[in-house]
Amino acid sequence: MKRVSIFGATGSIGQNTIDLLRRQPEEFDVVALSGGHNIGQLAKDAIELQANIAVTAHDDRLDDLRRALAGSGIEVAAGQAALKEAAAHPAHWVMSAIVGIAGLPPGLAALEQGATLALANKESLVAAGPVLMDSARRNGARILPVDSEHSAIFQALAGEDISAVNRVIITASGGAFRDWPLNDLAGATVAQASAHPNWDMGQRITIDSASMFNKALEMIEAREFFDFQPDQIEVLVHPESLVHALVGFCDGALMAHVGPPDMRHAIGFALNWPQRRSLPVDQLDLAAAGQLTFREPDIARYPALRLARNVMAQRGLSGAVFNAAKERALDHFIAGRIGFTGMNSVVEEVLTRLSSENGLIDAEITLDSVGKADHLARQCADQLVLEQA
Ligand code: NDP
Ligand code: MG
Repeated sequence: MKRVSIFGATGSIGQNTIDLLRRQPEEFDVVALSGGHNIGQLAKDAIELQANIAVTAHDDRLDDLRRALAGSGIEVAAGQAALKEAAAHPAHWVMSAIVGIAGLPPGLAALEQGATLALANKESLVAAGPVLMDSARRNGARILPVDSEHSAIFQALAGEDISAVNRVIITASGGAFRDWPLNDLAGATVAQASAHPNWDMGQRITIDSASMFNKALEMIEAREFFDFQPDQIEVLVHPESLVHALVGFCDGALMAHVGPPDMRHAIGFALNWPQRRSLPVDQLDLAAAGQLTFREPDIARYPALRLARNVMAQRGLSGAVFNAAKERALDHFIAGRIGFTGMNSVVEEVLTRLSSENGLIDAEITLDSVGKADHLARQCADQLVLEQA
Protein backbone atom coordinates (compact mmCIF):
# COMPACT_ATOMS: atom_id res chain seq x y z
CA MET A 1 0.00 0.00 0.00
CA LYS A 2 1.19 3.48 -0.81
CA ARG A 3 1.17 5.74 2.26
CA VAL A 4 -0.09 9.19 1.28
CA SER A 5 -0.78 12.52 2.99
CA ILE A 6 -2.58 15.59 1.68
CA PHE A 7 -1.89 19.10 2.95
CA GLY A 8 -4.68 21.44 1.91
CA ALA A 9 -7.07 18.49 1.58
CA THR A 10 -10.19 20.67 1.86
CA GLY A 11 -9.24 22.92 -1.08
CA SER A 12 -9.74 22.57 -4.81
CA ILE A 13 -6.53 20.57 -5.45
CA GLY A 14 -7.00 18.60 -2.24
CA GLN A 15 -10.54 17.57 -3.16
CA ASN A 16 -9.45 16.56 -6.66
CA THR A 17 -6.70 14.45 -5.10
CA ILE A 18 -9.19 12.79 -2.77
CA ASP A 19 -11.44 12.10 -5.75
CA LEU A 20 -8.61 10.05 -7.26
CA LEU A 21 -7.75 8.22 -4.02
CA ARG A 22 -11.40 7.37 -3.45
CA ARG A 23 -11.49 5.41 -6.72
CA GLN A 24 -8.72 3.02 -5.58
CA PRO A 25 -9.03 2.82 -1.78
CA GLU A 26 -7.29 -0.56 -1.63
CA GLU A 27 -4.08 0.99 -2.98
CA PHE A 28 -3.68 3.84 -0.52
CA ASP A 29 -3.11 4.13 3.17
CA VAL A 30 -3.93 7.72 4.17
CA VAL A 31 -1.59 9.03 6.84
CA ALA A 32 -2.49 12.72 7.31
CA LEU A 33 -5.07 15.13 5.94
CA SER A 34 -4.91 18.86 6.66
CA GLY A 35 -7.42 21.65 6.24
CA GLY A 36 -8.14 25.11 7.55
CA HIS A 37 -11.58 26.40 8.43
CA ASN A 38 -13.57 23.74 6.61
CA ILE A 39 -13.72 21.34 9.56
CA GLY A 40 -16.82 19.51 8.25
CA GLN A 41 -15.11 18.52 4.99
CA LEU A 42 -11.86 17.59 6.74
CA ALA A 43 -13.65 15.33 9.25
CA LYS A 44 -15.83 13.72 6.59
CA ASP A 45 -12.86 12.89 4.36
CA ALA A 46 -10.69 11.72 7.28
CA ILE A 47 -13.41 9.26 8.29
CA GLU A 48 -14.10 8.04 4.75
CA LEU A 49 -10.40 7.57 3.93
CA GLN A 50 -9.58 6.27 7.42
CA ALA A 51 -6.77 8.75 7.88
CA ASN A 52 -4.47 8.34 10.87
CA ILE A 53 -4.26 12.08 11.59
CA ALA A 54 -6.40 15.13 10.78
CA VAL A 55 -4.91 18.59 11.30
CA THR A 56 -6.51 22.01 11.05
CA ALA A 57 -4.15 24.92 10.47
CA HIS A 58 -6.04 27.03 13.01
CA ASP A 59 -5.52 26.52 16.77
CA ASP A 60 -8.94 27.93 17.57
CA ARG A 61 -10.64 25.21 15.50
CA LEU A 62 -9.13 22.28 17.41
CA ASP A 63 -12.20 21.74 19.60
CA ASP A 64 -14.48 21.74 16.55
CA LEU A 65 -12.29 19.15 14.87
CA ARG A 66 -12.09 17.07 18.02
CA ARG A 67 -15.89 17.08 18.30
CA ALA A 68 -16.33 16.20 14.63
CA LEU A 69 -14.00 13.22 14.96
CA ALA A 70 -15.01 12.05 18.45
CA GLY A 71 -15.03 8.26 18.66
CA SER A 72 -13.41 7.82 15.25
CA GLY A 73 -9.99 6.89 16.60
CA ILE A 74 -8.41 9.50 14.30
CA GLU A 75 -5.72 11.60 15.94
CA VAL A 76 -6.47 15.35 15.81
CA ALA A 77 -4.14 18.35 15.98
CA ALA A 78 -4.09 22.05 15.17
CA GLY A 79 -1.66 24.82 14.29
CA GLN A 80 1.37 25.39 12.13
CA ALA A 81 3.70 23.22 14.24
CA ALA A 82 1.19 20.36 14.06
CA LEU A 83 1.13 20.66 10.26
CA LYS A 84 4.89 20.25 10.15
CA GLU A 85 4.76 17.33 12.55
CA ALA A 86 2.09 15.59 10.48
CA ALA A 87 4.20 16.07 7.35
CA ALA A 88 7.11 14.39 9.10
CA HIS A 89 5.07 11.21 9.58
CA PRO A 90 6.48 8.62 7.17
CA ALA A 91 4.62 8.64 3.86
CA HIS A 92 5.63 7.69 0.34
CA TRP A 93 3.74 10.50 -1.37
CA VAL A 94 2.70 13.88 0.00
CA MET A 95 0.46 16.37 -1.78
CA SER A 96 1.43 19.97 -1.04
CA ALA A 97 -1.78 21.89 -1.77
CA ILE A 98 -2.03 24.51 0.95
CA VAL A 99 -2.48 27.94 -0.59
CA GLY A 100 0.26 30.50 0.10
CA ILE A 101 3.60 30.45 1.89
CA ALA A 102 2.02 28.44 4.75
CA GLY A 103 2.65 25.43 2.49
CA LEU A 104 6.44 25.76 2.78
CA PRO A 105 7.14 24.24 6.24
CA PRO A 106 5.03 21.08 5.73
CA GLY A 107 6.46 20.67 2.22
CA LEU A 108 9.99 20.81 3.60
CA ALA A 109 9.16 18.41 6.42
CA ALA A 110 7.81 15.93 3.86
CA LEU A 111 11.03 16.15 1.83
CA GLU A 112 13.12 15.73 4.96
CA GLN A 113 11.50 12.37 5.66
CA GLY A 114 12.24 11.35 2.06
CA ALA A 115 8.69 11.47 0.69
CA THR A 116 7.89 12.23 -2.93
CA LEU A 117 6.39 15.72 -2.82
CA ALA A 118 3.63 16.40 -5.32
CA LEU A 119 3.93 20.16 -5.46
CA ALA A 120 0.87 22.26 -6.23
CA ASN A 121 1.97 24.94 -3.75
CA LYS A 122 4.00 27.02 -6.23
CA GLU A 123 4.43 29.79 -3.65
CA SER A 124 6.99 27.70 -1.75
CA LEU A 125 9.16 27.28 -4.86
CA VAL A 126 8.89 30.96 -5.77
CA ALA A 127 9.85 32.11 -2.29
CA ALA A 128 12.35 29.42 -1.36
CA GLY A 129 13.23 27.43 -4.48
CA PRO A 130 16.85 26.66 -3.53
CA VAL A 131 15.82 25.58 -0.01
CA LEU A 132 13.28 23.08 -1.36
CA MET A 133 15.47 21.79 -4.18
CA ASP A 134 18.50 21.37 -1.85
CA SER A 135 16.37 19.56 0.69
CA ALA A 136 15.11 17.16 -1.97
CA ARG A 137 18.71 16.46 -3.08
CA ARG A 138 20.06 16.00 0.43
CA ASN A 139 17.28 13.66 1.45
CA GLY A 140 17.08 11.65 -1.74
CA ALA A 141 13.51 12.84 -2.12
CA ARG A 142 11.72 13.80 -5.31
CA ILE A 143 9.53 16.77 -6.16
CA LEU A 144 6.93 16.20 -8.87
CA PRO A 145 5.21 19.27 -10.30
CA VAL A 146 1.42 19.42 -10.08
CA ASP A 147 0.89 22.86 -11.57
CA SER A 148 -0.53 21.89 -14.98
CA GLU A 149 2.06 23.83 -17.01
CA HIS A 150 4.97 22.38 -15.08
CA SER A 151 3.55 18.88 -15.20
CA ALA A 152 3.26 19.43 -18.96
CA ILE A 153 6.91 20.51 -19.21
CA PHE A 154 7.99 17.57 -17.06
CA GLN A 155 6.11 15.19 -19.36
CA ALA A 156 7.49 16.81 -22.53
CA LEU A 157 11.01 16.40 -21.13
CA ALA A 158 10.70 12.66 -20.49
CA GLY A 159 13.62 10.88 -22.11
CA GLU A 160 15.09 14.15 -23.39
CA ASP A 161 18.45 15.75 -22.72
CA ILE A 162 17.64 18.97 -20.85
CA SER A 163 20.72 20.65 -22.30
CA ALA A 164 19.06 20.41 -25.75
CA VAL A 165 16.16 22.59 -24.56
CA ASN A 166 16.33 26.15 -25.82
CA ARG A 167 12.96 27.49 -24.70
CA VAL A 168 9.75 26.68 -22.87
CA ILE A 169 6.39 28.27 -23.52
CA ILE A 170 3.90 28.40 -20.69
CA THR A 171 0.36 29.10 -21.78
CA ALA A 172 -2.16 31.32 -20.02
CA SER A 173 -5.90 31.47 -20.51
CA GLY A 174 -5.78 35.24 -20.00
CA GLY A 175 -8.16 34.98 -17.05
CA ALA A 176 -11.45 36.72 -16.42
CA PHE A 177 -10.47 40.04 -18.02
CA ARG A 178 -8.61 39.02 -21.14
CA ASP A 179 -11.14 40.76 -23.39
CA TRP A 180 -12.05 43.69 -21.15
CA PRO A 181 -11.19 47.24 -22.24
CA LEU A 182 -7.98 48.16 -20.41
CA ASN A 183 -9.58 51.23 -18.84
CA ASP A 184 -12.18 49.11 -17.09
CA LEU A 185 -9.66 46.99 -15.19
CA ALA A 186 -9.18 49.47 -12.36
CA GLY A 187 -12.87 49.12 -11.47
CA ALA A 188 -13.02 45.31 -11.65
CA THR A 189 -14.68 43.75 -8.60
CA VAL A 190 -13.62 40.73 -6.57
CA ALA A 191 -16.62 38.75 -7.85
CA GLN A 192 -15.72 39.54 -11.46
CA ALA A 193 -12.08 38.57 -10.92
CA SER A 194 -13.14 35.30 -9.24
CA ALA A 195 -14.83 33.90 -12.37
CA HIS A 196 -12.36 31.91 -14.46
CA PRO A 197 -13.30 31.24 -18.08
CA ASN A 198 -11.86 27.68 -18.22
CA TRP A 199 -10.59 26.29 -14.92
CA ASP A 200 -12.41 25.61 -11.65
CA MET A 201 -9.92 26.53 -8.89
CA GLY A 202 -9.67 28.15 -5.46
CA GLN A 203 -10.58 31.85 -5.29
CA ARG A 204 -7.05 33.17 -4.75
CA ILE A 205 -5.46 31.47 -7.77
CA THR A 206 -8.49 32.43 -9.86
CA ILE A 207 -7.97 36.12 -9.10
CA ASP A 208 -4.24 35.63 -9.70
CA SER A 209 -5.14 34.28 -13.13
CA ALA A 210 -7.08 37.44 -13.97
CA SER A 211 -4.08 39.60 -13.00
CA MET A 212 -1.58 37.03 -14.34
CA PHE A 213 0.21 37.07 -11.02
CA ASN A 214 -0.38 33.34 -11.27
CA LYS A 215 1.52 33.19 -14.56
CA ALA A 216 4.25 35.39 -13.07
CA LEU A 217 4.62 32.91 -10.20
CA GLU A 218 4.70 30.09 -12.74
CA MET A 219 7.54 31.67 -14.73
CA ILE A 220 9.60 31.81 -11.55
CA GLU A 221 8.46 28.30 -10.62
CA ALA A 222 9.76 27.03 -14.00
CA ARG A 223 13.06 28.79 -13.40
CA GLU A 224 13.47 27.29 -9.94
CA PHE A 225 12.25 23.78 -10.72
CA PHE A 226 13.89 23.12 -14.09
CA ASP A 227 16.74 25.64 -13.84
CA PHE A 228 15.86 27.25 -17.19
CA GLN A 229 17.40 30.64 -17.91
CA PRO A 230 14.92 33.53 -17.60
CA ASP A 231 15.14 34.40 -21.30
CA GLN A 232 14.21 30.81 -22.19
CA ILE A 233 10.84 31.14 -20.46
CA GLU A 234 8.05 32.55 -22.60
CA VAL A 235 4.34 33.06 -22.00
CA LEU A 236 1.61 32.95 -24.62
CA VAL A 237 -2.08 33.64 -24.16
CA HIS A 238 -4.00 30.55 -25.29
CA PRO A 239 -7.70 31.12 -24.61
CA GLU A 240 -8.71 27.48 -25.20
CA SER A 241 -6.54 26.21 -22.28
CA LEU A 242 -5.86 22.90 -24.05
CA VAL A 243 -2.11 23.22 -24.67
CA HIS A 244 -0.59 23.62 -21.21
CA ALA A 245 3.05 24.13 -22.15
CA LEU A 246 5.49 23.57 -24.99
CA VAL A 247 9.16 22.67 -24.78
CA GLY A 248 11.41 23.81 -27.62
CA PHE A 249 14.62 21.98 -28.57
CA CYS A 250 17.75 23.13 -30.35
CA ASP A 251 16.72 21.27 -33.53
CA GLY A 252 13.57 23.36 -33.81
CA ALA A 253 11.14 20.74 -32.47
CA LEU A 254 8.41 21.96 -30.13
CA MET A 255 6.84 19.30 -27.91
CA ALA A 256 3.38 20.38 -26.77
CA HIS A 257 1.35 18.87 -23.97
CA VAL A 258 -2.34 18.90 -24.84
CA GLY A 259 -5.19 17.91 -22.53
CA PRO A 260 -8.51 19.03 -21.10
CA PRO A 261 -8.41 21.68 -18.35
CA ASP A 262 -8.89 19.18 -15.51
CA MET A 263 -6.37 19.19 -12.66
CA ARG A 264 -6.96 15.49 -12.06
CA HIS A 265 -4.66 14.85 -15.00
CA ALA A 266 -1.62 16.55 -13.44
CA ILE A 267 -2.47 15.26 -9.96
CA GLY A 268 -3.01 11.73 -11.24
CA PHE A 269 0.19 11.87 -13.27
CA ALA A 270 2.12 12.74 -10.10
CA LEU A 271 0.24 10.12 -8.08
CA ASN A 272 0.94 7.29 -10.52
CA TRP A 273 4.41 8.37 -11.66
CA PRO A 274 6.54 6.73 -13.05
CA GLN A 275 3.61 4.76 -14.46
CA ARG A 276 0.69 6.08 -16.46
CA ARG A 277 -2.71 4.84 -15.37
CA SER A 278 -6.26 5.54 -16.53
CA LEU A 279 -7.72 8.70 -15.07
CA PRO A 280 -11.30 9.99 -14.93
CA VAL A 281 -10.61 12.86 -17.33
CA ASP A 282 -12.36 13.46 -20.66
CA GLN A 283 -10.58 12.36 -23.80
CA LEU A 284 -10.00 15.49 -25.82
CA ASP A 285 -11.97 15.84 -29.04
CA LEU A 286 -9.65 18.01 -31.12
CA ALA A 287 -12.03 18.14 -34.09
CA ALA A 288 -14.73 19.50 -31.77
CA ALA A 289 -12.25 21.99 -30.30
CA GLY A 290 -11.66 23.11 -33.89
CA GLN A 291 -8.77 25.46 -33.35
CA LEU A 292 -5.95 26.29 -30.98
CA THR A 293 -5.01 29.95 -30.89
CA PHE A 294 -2.02 31.74 -29.37
CA ARG A 295 -1.09 35.36 -28.91
CA GLU A 296 1.49 37.49 -27.13
CA PRO A 297 0.36 38.71 -23.72
CA ASP A 298 -0.18 42.46 -23.50
CA ILE A 299 2.18 43.73 -20.79
CA ALA A 300 0.00 46.82 -20.22
CA ARG A 301 -2.83 44.46 -19.28
CA TYR A 302 -0.59 42.08 -17.33
CA PRO A 303 2.29 44.04 -15.71
CA ALA A 304 2.87 41.10 -13.35
CA LEU A 305 4.73 39.37 -16.20
CA ARG A 306 7.23 42.24 -16.34
CA LEU A 307 7.69 42.06 -12.56
CA ALA A 308 8.38 38.32 -12.82
CA ARG A 309 11.21 39.06 -15.26
CA ASN A 310 12.74 41.48 -12.74
CA VAL A 311 12.48 38.88 -10.01
CA MET A 312 14.07 36.18 -12.17
CA ALA A 313 16.93 38.53 -13.04
CA GLN A 314 17.56 39.49 -9.41
CA ARG A 315 16.92 36.13 -7.77
CA GLY A 316 18.11 36.12 -4.13
CA LEU A 317 15.21 36.81 -1.83
CA SER A 318 13.26 38.77 -4.40
CA GLY A 319 11.05 35.73 -5.04
CA ALA A 320 10.09 35.66 -1.36
CA VAL A 321 9.41 39.41 -1.43
CA PHE A 322 7.41 39.14 -4.63
CA ASN A 323 5.27 36.29 -3.36
CA ALA A 324 4.57 37.86 0.02
CA ALA A 325 3.77 41.28 -1.47
CA LYS A 326 1.43 39.57 -3.93
CA GLU A 327 -0.28 37.60 -1.16
CA ARG A 328 -0.87 40.77 0.89
CA ALA A 329 -1.96 42.83 -2.12
CA LEU A 330 -4.47 40.09 -2.90
CA ASP A 331 -5.72 40.14 0.73
CA HIS A 332 -6.21 43.90 0.44
CA PHE A 333 -8.01 43.59 -2.90
CA ILE A 334 -10.34 40.89 -1.53
CA ALA A 335 -11.00 43.08 1.52
CA GLY A 336 -11.91 46.00 -0.73
CA ARG A 337 -9.03 48.22 0.41
CA ILE A 338 -7.38 48.51 -3.02
CA GLY A 339 -8.59 48.13 -6.58
CA PHE A 340 -7.68 45.37 -9.02
CA THR A 341 -4.86 47.27 -10.71
CA GLY A 342 -3.69 48.54 -7.31
CA MET A 343 -2.27 45.05 -6.69
CA ASN A 344 0.38 45.61 -9.37
CA SER A 345 1.36 48.99 -7.94
CA VAL A 346 1.72 47.60 -4.43
CA VAL A 347 3.84 44.62 -5.49
CA GLU A 348 6.09 46.72 -7.72
CA GLU A 349 6.65 49.32 -5.02
CA VAL A 350 7.41 46.69 -2.37
CA LEU A 351 9.99 45.11 -4.69
CA THR A 352 11.59 48.50 -5.34
CA ARG A 353 11.72 49.55 -1.70
CA LEU A 354 12.97 46.27 -0.28
CA SER A 355 15.56 45.49 -2.90
CA SER A 356 17.29 48.83 -2.54
CA GLU A 357 16.96 49.32 1.21
CA ASN A 358 17.56 46.00 2.88
CA GLY A 359 20.18 44.14 0.93
CA LEU A 360 17.62 41.37 0.66
CA ILE A 361 18.49 40.49 -2.86
CA ASP A 362 22.03 39.38 -2.07
CA ALA A 363 21.26 37.59 1.17
CA GLU A 364 21.68 33.84 1.37
CA ILE A 365 18.43 31.96 0.85
CA THR A 366 17.64 29.99 3.99
CA LEU A 367 14.35 29.23 5.69
CA ASP A 368 15.11 32.04 8.16
CA SER A 369 16.01 34.63 5.56
CA VAL A 370 12.94 33.72 3.49
CA GLY A 371 10.78 34.14 6.59
CA LYS A 372 12.34 37.54 7.28
CA ALA A 373 11.88 38.72 3.68
CA ASP A 374 8.30 37.46 3.69
CA HIS A 375 7.58 39.35 6.91
CA LEU A 376 9.16 42.61 5.71
CA ALA A 377 7.34 42.45 2.38
CA ARG A 378 3.98 41.99 4.11
CA GLN A 379 4.69 44.92 6.44
CA CYS A 380 5.74 47.07 3.51
CA ALA A 381 2.63 46.15 1.49
CA ASP A 382 0.38 46.97 4.45
CA GLN A 383 2.15 50.29 4.94
CA LEU A 384 1.68 51.22 1.26
CA VAL A 385 -2.01 50.39 1.39
CA LEU A 386 -2.38 52.52 4.55
CA GLU A 387 -0.58 55.41 2.85
CA GLN A 388 -2.93 55.18 -0.13
CA ALA A 389 -6.09 55.10 2.01
P1 NDP B 1 -7.98 26.48 -2.12
O1 NDP B 1 -8.15 27.86 -1.62
O2 NDP B 1 -9.10 25.81 -2.82
O3 NDP B 1 -7.51 25.51 -0.91
C1 NDP B 1 -6.47 25.88 -0.07
C2 NDP B 1 -6.25 24.85 1.01
O4 NDP B 1 -5.30 25.35 1.96
C3 NDP B 1 -7.49 24.52 1.83
O5 NDP B 1 -7.38 23.19 2.30
C4 NDP B 1 -7.41 25.51 2.99
O6 NDP B 1 -8.17 25.13 4.10
C5 NDP B 1 -5.93 25.46 3.27
N1 NDP B 1 -5.39 26.68 3.87
C6 NDP B 1 -5.74 27.95 3.62
N2 NDP B 1 -4.99 28.80 4.34
C7 NDP B 1 -4.14 28.03 5.07
C8 NDP B 1 -3.10 28.31 6.02
N3 NDP B 1 -2.79 29.56 6.37
N4 NDP B 1 -2.44 27.28 6.57
C9 NDP B 1 -2.73 26.00 6.23
N5 NDP B 1 -3.70 25.67 5.36
C10 NDP B 1 -4.39 26.68 4.77
O7 NDP B 1 -6.68 26.52 -3.04
P2 NDP B 1 -6.35 25.65 -4.35
O8 NDP B 1 -6.62 24.21 -4.09
O9 NDP B 1 -6.91 26.31 -5.53
O10 NDP B 1 -4.77 25.87 -4.45
C11 NDP B 1 -3.87 25.20 -3.58
C12 NDP B 1 -2.45 25.38 -4.11
O11 NDP B 1 -2.37 24.75 -5.38
C13 NDP B 1 -2.05 26.85 -4.34
O12 NDP B 1 -0.69 26.97 -4.08
C14 NDP B 1 -2.33 27.06 -5.82
O13 NDP B 1 -1.51 28.05 -6.38
C15 NDP B 1 -1.95 25.69 -6.37
N6 NDP B 1 -2.59 25.34 -7.64
C16 NDP B 1 -3.95 25.22 -7.71
C17 NDP B 1 -4.57 24.88 -8.89
C18 NDP B 1 -6.05 24.65 -8.94
O14 NDP B 1 -6.55 24.15 -9.96
N7 NDP B 1 -6.81 24.97 -7.93
C19 NDP B 1 -3.79 24.69 -10.14
C20 NDP B 1 -2.36 24.81 -9.94
C21 NDP B 1 -1.80 25.12 -8.73
P3 NDP B 1 -9.75 25.56 4.31
O15 NDP B 1 -10.33 25.73 2.94
O16 NDP B 1 -10.31 24.39 5.08
O17 NDP B 1 -9.74 26.83 5.10
MG1 MG C 1 -0.90 26.55 -13.55
